[in-house]
Amino acid sequence: MHLARFARRRYTPFVTPLEPLPRLSAALAGPELWIKRDDMLGLAAGGNKTRKLEFLVADALAQGADTLITVGAVQSNHCRLTLAAARREGLQCQLVLEERVPGSYREDGSGNNLLYRLLGAERIEVVPAGTDLGAEMQRLADELAEHGRRAYVIPGGGSNALGALGYVACADELLAQTFDMGLRLDRVVVASGSGGTHAGLLAGLHAAHADLPVIGVSVRAERAAQEARILALADEVLAHAGAEVGIPAEAVVVDDTQVGPGYSLPTRAMVEAIALFAKFEGILLDPVYTGKTAAGLIALARSGRFAAGERVLFLHTGGSPALYAYQDVVLPDPRE
Ligand SMILES: *Cc1c(COP(=O)(O)O)cnc(C)c1O
Repeated sequence: MHLARFARRRYTPFVTPLEPLPRLSAALAGPELWIKRDDMLGLAAGGNKTRKLEFLVADALAQGADTLITVGAVQSNHCRLTLAAARREGLQCQLVLEERVPGSYREDGSGNNLLYRLLGAERIEVVPAGTDLGAEMQRLADELAEHGRRAYVIPGGGSNALGALGYVACADELLAQTFDMGLRLDRVVVASGSGGTHAGLLAGLHAAHADLPVIGVSVRAERAAQEARILALADEVLAHAGAEVGIPAEAVVVDDTQVGPGYSLPTRAMVEAIALFAKFEGILLDPVYTGKTAAGLIALARSGRFAAGERVLFLHTGGSPALYAYQDVVLPDPRE
């Protein structure tokens, strides 16, 4: 499998740090925890979408696009980073925002909403949950075409076979780092949403025969549906990258115990996980993705799921700007 065949823009001039979490490990008295800091990736405030956009934006440029169009939830890290990549490349950017929680979009909102305005989206369309998002993006692209412009449409989360190559590249980067450091990892825990991160990582590890199991913590879908989605996408990624074989179904493991009342809706375990990472390691998580993923990691550690001395990597996918839109959720109520 050869990533060098694909055009790629570079938005991070270094490999992201791979570090131990000694204080949190001691506090949990469980496995030896490590973290890979993909929250430190390049573009405005970093996060996992930066890796996917390196391949997607390179393709957009190769096709002569002048505008990126994409879609996300109201507080979308993916929309923020697509916008940042557009600015970086001198492109325009239009966003379709799906109001998964009715009434949740506020034009003057904080967090990523504020950054959309600061980075200067050319157009923001807010649509209700259940809208055909692909059709909505195509409608914007057609309107631009009428004016002689050329749009490049990026699917939600940048999670198609091309975008997921970003996490094949991450798997390669991680394996090179562990080899350099003489570090043996036993397991990876990562967020599983639109799936490009989880599927790309699995594809990359599988292609490298890494024998490093991955647990994807779902932030939205229930287990069977998410496992099916990840398996299909991982196979698509491998086929796209020219690998001979797909991945075995049993390599796809999704934990759906942290979704709570639904996507982006707070849980107590998420609030606790954000507090533990901040207080023990000085690391910021986010309420929608990494807070729930870390809650999954902590619950597994407490339940004795990991063997003694196991080294477990938490892949930090970013998202901390959303913290500022959830102030009343992530700070404990002083009356409690
Ligand atoms: C999008 C996102 C995820 C989930 O990644 P997918 O590839 O969509 O599964 C995880 N963490 C953060 C911070 C994100 O923005």
